[in-house]
Amino acid sequence: MLEGLINKIVVIGGNAAGLAAASQARRDNPEIDITVLESGDYISYGSCSLPYFISNEVKKIDDIFVYSKDFFEKKRNIKILTAHKVTGLDTISRKVHVDIPGDKKGFFDYDRLIVSSGATTIVPDIEGIDADNVFRFRDVHNALDLDCFIKGTSPEKAVILGGGSIGMLMAESLIKIGIKVTVVEMSENILGGFEDEISTVLYKKATLGKANILTGSKVIRIVKDAQNIAHQVEVDTPDGSVRLDIDMIILATGIKANTSFIKKDSRTLIDLGQKDAIKVTSRQQTSNLNIYAAGDCCMCKNLVTGKYDFMTGANNAAKSGRAAGENIVGGSLDFDGSVGTKIDNIFGLEIAKAGLKLKEATEHGFDAIKVTGSYSSRAHSLGGHKTINISLVFENRTGRILGAHMVGEEGVSKRIDILATAITEEMDIDQVYMLDLSYAPKVSTVWDPVNKICAKAVLNLKNRKI
Ligand SMILES: Cc1cc2nc3c(=O)[nH]c(=O)nc-3n(C[C@H](O)[C@H](O)[C@H](O)COP(=O)(O)OP(=O)(O)OC[C@H]3O[C@@H](n4cnc5c(N)ncnc54)[C@H](O)[C@@H]3O)c2cc1C
Repeated sequence: MLEGLINKIVVIGGNAAGLAAASQARRDNPEIDITVLESGDYISYGSCSLPYFISNEVKKIDDIFVYSKDFFEKKRNIKILTAHKVTGLDTISRKVHVDIPGDKKGFFDYDRLIVSSGATTIVPDIEGIDADNVFRFRDVHNALDLDCFIKGTSPEKAVILGGGSIGMLMAESLIKIGIKVTVVEMSENILGGFEDEISTVLYKKATLGKANILTGSKVIRIVKDAQNIAHQVEVDTPDGSVRLDIDMIILATGIKANTSFIKKDSRTLIDLGQKDAIKVTSRQQTSNLNIYAAGDCCMCKNLVTGKYDFMTGANNAAKSGRAAGENIVGGSLDFDGSVGTKIDNIFGLEIAKAGLKLKEATEHGFDAIKVTGSYSSRAHSLGGHKTINISLVFENRTGRILGAHMVGEEGVSKRIDILATAITEEMDIDQVYMLDLSYAPKVSTVWDPVNKICAKAVLNLKNRKI
């Protein structure tokens, strides 16, 4: 049950989830007062394009922005207040405490609140991490700071902490502008969320693309001078300790929900879960019934395991935002969850996944099997076709598809989206083996790679049952 009349909605965070939520609430209720509080100076930007601003493929920062403040204020009648950082909540008196420009403090009353404050970089506890040439990379401010540093000091050597998607995207961007890059990754391979044989394809391509990658390695110290500038990092590698000369450092060390303003205040009765992410229902309602949450700051149901996880991404942010906006004004739109569909284009490879990898499936109690295959992206007759490597995880007893991971130079996005749909709908390998998929020689093969990997899985299962 929601309490009281709704006159005022406050939204914390002015990007994908927050603006989707505010816009949907406005569509459903033309009268209500809606205010978006954004800590930064910018709203409505594509974080996903920020690495391409650093590599100069996006020519100017203005190209990153989607809608202006003016658009929201004039066309949607939504008040946007930038440089308004929420520092705490009082859920009993329904107040949001805010730092406002001019070093002032203030508060906003709300009847209903939407938290969509995104995620923040996890900063590892390493000596020297506070040096001025150590950069995070999450938002427009971070990108402008990094761009300014690069243009102002012409760095030659960078080290990137973390070989996940962001680390590898940044490695490619820096190499494109002539900076030598070393990626230091603690695990045995880069892109830990992927099956090893898929990540390894990217590892090899990135190495050929001039990235120096140290896996199974850890930066243990950053050596800086009296001006607070780092010049060296000390790295523990499987072959012993090494020192690398560097001009800059990028932290791509993973993310956690940006919810410190919730945790701080004991008068805030909102339950948090993994990585400090806000627990929500499928209506995006938190444990406090007047407060909704959406996007990277909250948990999301994993549709394969049925359990809530910290599953971030622009696609989930937009949808959960829309659901939060609709439901906060009395609607009934469910965001059921996600299968973690994800794609990156790095060093000329499309690398994508949906669902679980074998290890995760086993850990979640599935009796799972994996098959792998390499297939042509389109017909051989015309030449120019590329290889797509696919790893498919499925359940032994039922043949239900649990996960798909793939990499190739072209045609991956079409295939991952088919398998993401199949995983969402709990389809099995027999159904997808015979699924009617489009064919023309320039774009596919008669048996699409997705049909083929499922055919292989069917055969594999039959052989096991004999
Ligand atoms: C470099 C990079 C590349 C990416 N590439 C992809 C990709 O290819 N595909 C994909 O799906 N996803 C990608 N993502 C992730 C995607 O950008 C996020 O999932 C998406 O932006 C989440 O939207 P959100 O609104 O939940 O959070 P955010 O976009 O982080 O927005 C949260 C907003 O809240 C504001 N805020 C935070 N704290 C406060 C506070 N206390 N008070 C007021 N305001 C506050 C922040 O300033 C921010 O503007 C990428 C992210 C990065 C950084």
